[in-house]
Parts: sequence; C-alpha cells; structure tokens
Amino acid sequence: MPIKKLLNDSIEECNQNINKENLVNRVMKTCSELKITIITNVTSNITQIPPWFNIYQNTETNFMQNLTKDTSEEIIRIQFNMMDKTIYKDHKKIFTDGSKTEEANSTSAAIFIKDKNITTMWKLPKETQVIEAELFAIKEALTHSYITNNKIKNSVIYTDSKSVHSIQNTNPKKYKNIIFEIHSIILSLMENKHKIMIQWIPAHKNIKGNEIADLAAKTAHNINETFNITKDISNVIKEIKNKSLKNWEEYLTNALNTKNYYLKNTSPQPWTRSKNRKLDTCITRIKTKHTRLKHHLHRIKIETDPFCRWCLNQEETVEHIFLHCPRFNSNRVVLLEALKKIKISNPNVKQLITGEDLPEDQKYYILRHTKIFLLKTKIIDII
Ligand SMILES: [Zn+2]
Repeated sequence: MPIKKLLNDSIEECNQNINKENLVNRVMKTCSELKITIITNVTSNITQIPPWFNIYQNTETNFMQNLTKDTSEEIIRIQFNMMDKTIYKDHKKIFTDGSKTEEANSTSAAIFIKDKNITTMWKLPKETQVIEAELFAIKEALTHSYITNNKIKNSVIYTDSKSVHSIQNTNPKKYKNIIFEIHSIILSLMENKHKIMIQWIPAHKNIKGNEIADLAAKTAHNINETFNITKDISNVIKEIKNKSLKNWEEYLTNALNTKNYYLKNTSPQPWTRSKNRKLDTCITRIKTKHTRLKHHLHRIKIETDPFCRWCLNQEETVEHIFLHCPRFNSNRVVLLEALKKIKISNPNVKQLITGEDLPEDQKYYILRHTKIFLLKTKIIDII
C-alpha cells in the first residue's frame, strides 16, 4: 500500500473521534467519577499587573549583606531589630507562615499581628503545597482589616518563605490563582494610597514575631475543620493521577482475587508443573499422543512392528501400558486400590491423566497416584 494512502487512512481513522466529548467535559466527568471537586476558577489567567508597574517596589528579598549559613543568630536578630525600627518604623507589621507535615499529610497557615498580639490560623486542604500555604498567609495578611481599615497607610508583611520570589514573577508556571490574586490586592491597596512591603526574613533565627507565626502554623494542623481554598490546577492534576492509580490498583487486586488467578490461589494446583521435569514431559506426551511407544513409532515408520516389547501379540499403546500390560500388574493394583477409595473403578487413560470432570481435590488425588505409578514402573523412561 502506498505510504500516502496509508497516511490518509490513519488520519481518517483518527478523525472518527472528532465527535467525542470535548476535553472540558471529559475532565469534569473524570473528576466527578474520582470524586474530585473543582472550585471553578474565576480569576483571569493573566496578571493584573500592567507592564509599567514595578512589583519589586513591594517586595524585598534582601535581608542583609553577606548573609551566609554561618551568620550567627545574634547578628541576624540585631539586623532585624535595626531594620524593624528604621526602614519599617511607622509600619503596621504582620508575620506570616505556612507549614506542611508529610507524616500527618496536613497543610496549614498562620498570621501574627504584632501590635495587637493577635494570631489567626487555618488548616488547609491536605493537597495544598507549602509554598501555597505561605502565599495564602500573605494574601490573608494583605486583606486583613488591620491593613485595609486603618489610618496608618504603611504596612510590612514579614515572611520567611521563598514565595516572595513567586510574587515577583508576573508569569508564574505554578500557583497562578493565588499569585495573581495577591497581585490584584497589592494593586488595589496601592490605588488606595497604601504602601505595602513584603519583606523576606530568615527562618528559625529567634526573631520573636516569626517564631510565634511558625508555632501558630504548626498548631493549626490540629484544627478539625479545613478551610477551603481554590485548588491550583497542578494539584488537581496530581490528585487525578493519584486517584486513578489507586482506583486501578484496587480494581486489579480485586480482579486477581475474585478470578482465582494463580497469584493468590493457594488451593492445590495439580496441573501446574511438578518438580520432576521428566514426569511433566511424560504426561504431556500422553496427553498429546506423541509418545515413544512402539505403536506410535511404527505409525511414523520408525519401528518395524507395533507390538508390546513384553507381550509380543498386543499393540504397545498407552492404553495397553497403563491398563493391561502384565509387566506393570503389581503397581497397577496399588493404583486401582487407591482410586477405589474415592469410588473410581475401571478408570480409562483420560481419567488417570486429567481427572476429567471430577472436583478439584479428586483430580489432584488421581494425578498424584498416576504420577506414583509412572515413577515406580519406570514408564516415564519409555514413553
Ligand atoms: Zn505388554
């Protein structure tokens, strides 16, 4: 077939799906099947910040010069107090923090208003990432009445989170919802002559306000009621993946258990391989009727006659060897006696080899004794 035609055909085949439901419908359907609720996103997919507006004037990630891991707590605290009393002298101050514990699979956030000595905390949906929790705390601080309804127009939000960097980004890849929300809040505060600064500070350096916010966020894991926030699309995707995988695993486990696949089946399995490969080969040869017995070899013109090597006037067939040949009489008696115990007399070869329609445990019993017969008589060496 010419490649061009092949290509056209496959394109046509693909286009059969053109009447399928659209992507949004399929996503909604999948989410409802997996019991994932999506709060419809009403914020725009683009930041409110105009190109001429410099968001860096509202954010500060520099804390002090030459700050390293070895900078002592004491120096950091002195630096903070100096900054707090000079640059942010006549400012309202809110400390924010977010927290996530992997063990308890819980996310939370808190704010601490220094002047009023008020802490507020939230337990957030467990799939919320820690950076989202930090951003959430900043957003809550910015919209707090302490900031919005106050004669003092200068405010500083202290955060120890790198989320300040994502606020500086006007085209973030993740957490767009909350970042754009923060952008528009800052813009509207600025329009109302507020001066807002989000200041990064180092964590766990014994800065009092920061420690209180940190403790409050950790305490918030124990709150019973979860505060619902708009789910970020990346979290929804993660949730869909996890739940689909879990569903599939449940389905698979269930299917494997109920259909008695060999994985979980502990009942006797007479038809699976035994440890003796020679015995398996022998049984397969009998089942497929391709043996090395003379009757068969004669038919394919390897042997000159089909007669039993011990009886001479009888054809050497499976039936003869199993049921009639006097050479194996004593062992045959043992086999037939054993079968009488489960009320089987005059068995034919098929019954001895397959157990036919008998219950599973009887099949197992029969095959076990047939195997003993084949081994004791050394028939396995001639079949
Ligand atoms: Zn014979």
